[in-house]
Amino acid sequence: MSTRYGTTRTELGELLEGWGEPRYRADQVWRALYRERRPLASATSLPRSLRDRLEAALPPAFEERLVQASADGLTVKWLYTGAGGAEVETVLMRYPGRATVCVSSQAGCAMGCTFCATAQGGFVRGLDAGEIVEQVLRAAHASEQPVTNVVFMGMGEPLANFDATWAAVERLHADVGISARRITVSTVGVVPGMRRLAEQDLPVTLAVSLHAPDDALRETLVPLDRRYPIAEVLHAARAVARRRGRRVTFEYACIAGVNDCPEHAGRLAGLLAGFDAPGGPHVNLIPLNPTAGFPGRASDPARVAAFARVLRGHGLGVTVRRNRGTDIDAACGQLRARAGDGRDPSGTMAR
Ligand code: SAH
Repeated sequence: MSTRYGTTRTELGELLEGWGEPRYRADQVWRALYRERRPLASATSLPRSLRDRLEAALPPAFEERLVQASADGLTVKWLYTGAGGAEVETVLMRYPGRATVCVSSQAGCAMGCTFCATAQGGFVRGLDAGEIVEQVLRAAHASEQPVTNVVFMGMGEPLANFDATWAAVERLHADVGISARRITVSTVGVVPGMRRLAEQDLPVTLAVSLHAPDDALRETLVPLDRRYPIAEVLHAARAVARRRGRRVTFEYACIAGVNDCPEHAGRLAGLLAGFDAPGGPHVNLIPLNPTAGFPGRASDPARVAAFARVLRGHGLGVTVRRNRGTDIDAACGQLRARAGDGRDPSGTMAR
């Protein structure tokens, strides 16, 4: 059976035709689901009986297992269960006048980054395009602000699930109406996937998880570095940037005493100095979110600020990521990890 957001426009048309519905219905349903971003139950342009019938024939792909909101209500995180028991997380971050949804592209992850909670839980399966789009639309249903941005920074490696990721990007762009530039695909450096990305027409934003200025250190954090070392990853990233005329963001998790010395910053600046692509490179510093399976802890704020100063001194654009939602484990695979512990998640709801 097809799912609500997994079904294509053609399949929907055939389903409705089979029910003897008038021809214009398929457009009406499609518009309500995607462009108007309505939950089926409140798609009041459709007759009640039809909504009920669609609810049953096109069920959502996910069941909601947990939902948590931060104390200020601006960050909301869902833990969903999908086919085969796959567990998936989605985070909504609301800002004045806009909102960002952080989606998962896989249940679990096979990349094995040592500090990442998702990797620590292992790989389950790739999500399909409908499951990715459903995460965005269900978050949109819960957001007062329009969802303007989507980041593939939840569970999984999007470029290791390229076809589904790209089909979702196209649906989000063409049907949901999200600007391609406001869709960010984050990769640990899957070079073949980056090359494919460079060939696509939609100018999505690329983020690359770097985390270290040299291969010797990076391979201790990101095992994939042995297969695709930094030089190859930067080469592929530059091809994407040039083709698109877009800046590339490099993500760098700051881990106390591991990769956060001023010397690391100097070497990182040296590495990125040669990144001569339009818009230039941009560095996003993320204080580490501690995870159960990794002994590291976050660099303290002064250390992160000093690191940022060195990079800026070399003319690089830098942002320090505010860790939103840490009170609800909304960072990096933590909700699933906690729920799996059997710890009562309601304990964090009221904070
Ligand atoms: N597979 C993609 C998306 C991963 S999640 C990628 O690797 O880019 C998005 C970002 O969060 C990545 O940069 C990832 O390295 C980072 N991340 C994962 N676990 C983290 C943690 N515990 N603390 C800080 N950043 C983390």
